[in-house]
Amino acid sequence: MKLLDCPRPRFQLLPDKVVRDRRYPPVIKLQNGGSLVFTQYLQSIGRSGFTDWLIKAPKRGVVVYRDRKSESTLEIKGSDFQKDMRGWIYFGPDTFTKIDGALVLMDSGLPNFTTSLIAKNTAALLNVYTERLGKKLPASPSIYVVWEERDKPGQSFQADVVPGGVIRFGLRGEAWATESAERSTRIISVLAHELAHLWNAGVFMHEKTSESWLYEGNAELLSVAALYAIGALDEAAVTGRVSHAFSDCAIQSAGRPWGGMKERFAGQIPYVCGFALNFLAAGPASADGLSSDVLGFWRAFWDIHPSYSQRDLESYLAKTRGDLVSNNFSRVFTDATTPLNQHLVRLLQTQGHSASTQVELSKSIRSRVASNVFREILRDDCGPNSSAIGREAEYEVVECVGLKKGTKLAFVNSINIYDRTMDAVNSISSTCARDQKVRVSFGSDELVLNCSPIVAERLKWVLQLPKVERLAKFGELFTR
Ligand SMILES: [Zn+2]
Repeated sequence: MKLLDCPRPRFQLLPDKVVRDRRYPPVIKLQNGGSLVFTQYLQSIGRSGFTDWLIKAPKRGVVVYRDRKSESTLEIKGSDFQKDMRGWIYFGPDTFTKIDGALVLMDSGLPNFTTSLIAKNTAALLNVYTERLGKKLPASPSIYVVWEERDKPGQSFQADVVPGGVIRFGLRGEAWATESAERSTRIISVLAHELAHLWNAGVFMHEKTSESWLYEGNAELLSVAALYAIGALDEAAVTGRVSHAFSDCAIQSAGRPWGGMKERFAGQIPYVCGFALNFLAAGPASADGLSSDVLGFWRAFWDIHPSYSQRDLESYLAKTRGDLVSNNFSRVFTDATTPLNQHLVRLLQTQGHSASTQVELSKSIRSRVASNVFREILRDDCGPNSSAIGREAEYEVVECVGLKKGTKLAFVNSINIYDRTMDAVNSISSTCARDQKVRVSFGSDELVLNCSPIVAERLKWVLQLPKVERLAKFGELFTR
């Protein structure tokens, strides 16, 4: 086969009606008349590697790539794509707002509360990261905020960060038209998380994508520290976020050791368990005479390891905090039997934080505990024929001792029902002995379980979800 260099390839781009890649759609039509085009789908490779691109601005508009903006043409060197092919090019009218330290394009028609939250907090957060992590961004970031499917029901949010400091926030669904406290919190949390990646996956580089707990959990921790620094969170809110990370991780890990969680590199685990682990690594600032807050800890670590891995973190802990701390930390990953959660709670307590184990949880956590646990109990005790039907929370018991065929159990749709379940669960956990049958009642229905050690064990971890009451030395860990 003869490889021919096409001297001047021409591309015609049409917006895709079908969403093929939710995170990186090829073309996004903006309401302001412009388009965002994702570079990865257009790569052309010549004899000498990636080809150079010459991009013309539309009439009376601009073309933007990373932090460069032009009314005529922009040239992108093929070598820019050598390491990473991802990037966004913007074509369209110049509706950028220049805020302190960043170029921001908010699409036309975005709800006011979203644009003002982003405009207000971006500059402040960039300042905190720049000063407290001690390194400036190599170029000022470009931020695109778009609102897709604004006429369709639903509410979701995605954000992506690509090389060159480009962040795209995609709101999706009509619910964003209405302001709510939950939606506002979500926006600033995701904003702070994505901006943290400009440092932990841009200025500094993680070596292994498999260690996602390290940079996703880190972005969670740094974002909480930065939001506290700018006054967007108070002490109670920070403690709540840390507490949620530990209890969410307990739910996700479901009594398994780190190595036993096959899905530990994906889904929620890198975020929630990673948050807890990053928090524990930073430790209470002056427990061992060191004085640095959470952001200062990572700054000092990255000073020595600008390109970093889990191994680097473990050796850094050994050097700065001693063998005991670093061995305890490393054990979390190597222990093949002890559940991850037990390690995390022990480390929390070793660091002097006040943590209890409670069942008094937020509504969403309660629901997830109930649905996860009972789905497994049904499968184990009622056989593979038991199945979930309809909404996630409802189960049809196909065949199980003491229950009529077709009985629907609504475990989690109502907190009242769940509370009754918890009473039953409480009584099981105190009386359950091997080979006994135990009854859990739901109103007039009753579920009879074989009291296997597995059931007893699972009930135990449900009841022992950690709750952080108070963080030791809060004022040293988180500072303004
Ligand atoms: Zn992330």
